[in-house]
Amino acid sequence: MAVIVLALLPAALFDDRTLTVIALLGASLVVLAISVAAASRLMRLLETANDKIATLTTHDDLTGLPNRRWFFDRLDEEVDRARRYGNELSLIMVDIDHFRQVNDTFGHPLGDLALAEVARLLSANIRTSDIVARYGGEEFVIIIPESGAEKTVQAAEKLRMVVEVNDISLEGPEVKVTVSCGVADLKSVVPGKGGLRDALVLAADHALHRAKENGRNQTLMHVAEHERQLPLV
Ligand code: GH3
Ligand code: MG
Ligand code: MG
Repeated sequence: MAVIVLALLPAALFDDRTLTVIALLGASLVVLAISVAAASRLMRLLETANDKIATLTTHDDLTGLPNRRWFFDRLDEEVDRARRYGNELSLIMVDIDHFRQVNDTFGHPLGDLALAEVARLLSANIRTSDIVARYGGEEFVIIIPESGAEKTVQAAEKLRMVVEVNDISLEGPEVKVTVSCGVADLKSVVPGKGGLRDALVLAADHALHRAKENGRNQTLMHVAEHERQLPLV
């Protein structure tokens, strides 16, 4: 508005029709340019806001890792791909040992820091083709495409040792944590009611629980039913 008034001022002073038209034309162009610039800035802001919303719905705030929902979508894709091409596929389930005790001893804020540091160590020590996510609480999952259980146990052991040797406190008292890992691969599981994907998750979870029962700070592999030894009678 101010632009148009300013543009019309000389034209009104000199009472010249051509000058008025030129002034109006110039003012319109200026207004148009300002509108285009404002619109494109608004679009950029909207895009940034949309990206943020998308990240918030798929990623976990504390660790910055993808969340459980995103993980299940990716696992569905990877299971489909592995079946289509006959590739191997493994899953590692990682759970921090005695984490309640860490919170009780050092307080929840330091527990949060420890959790974020474990997430960072896991992310930093996997291949770019591996997919890590926060499964919930102090549990993480890692999808390992094109790898069978035996090879994946080695990768899980490397991660377990990396966490074990690291002092994960970034400030304040020294905090050391350990993790237990459960490993399963696609070829060792039989699809149940929930399909192959859920069978794989369940198998890795069972292996993790056995690792806990066995003393923690270790990696155990799911063993296919038909490979389990029958008890001697
Ligand atoms: P286990 O070795 O059997 O896994 O023992 P645990 O103490 O780790 O397992 P439990 O399931 O009893 O406790 C999990 C703890 O993890 C309890 C909960 O307070 C803590 N936890 C889960 N999410 C968070 C979080 O986001 N931040 C913090 N600081 N603690 C969390
Ligand atoms: Mg735990
Ligand atoms: Mg747990």
